[in-house]
Amino acid sequence: MEEKSRVNQATRCDTCHNEYDKTFDVIMNGNTYTFDSFECAIHLLAPRCDHCSCRIIGHGLESNGVFYCCDHCAEASGVMGLRDRIEA
Ligand SMILES: [Zn+2]
Ligand SMILES: [Zn+2]
Repeated sequence: MEEKSRVNQATRCDTCHNEYDKTFDVIMNGNTYTFDSFECAIHLLAPRCDHCSCRIIGHGLESNGVFYCCDHCAEASGVMGLRDRIEA
């Protein structure tokens, strides 16, 4: 139980628990998260590629609720037809 006194309305980052006066909130699926940096937001909220486990920061690809960072990873997992460009 470590309750710090809340001076100048500093709020705590949900990822690293850093107390900071310039945090921002992200609402995802009805839940509100507080972060001190985009890095922390990505760490907690960005989906992971099902194949290489990297964080998906761009649009990525989704197939049946599974996310991939790129079409290479999707294809390596046997998911076809997610290419945004068909090579003839
Ligand atoms: Zn943080
Ligand atoms: Zn990947």
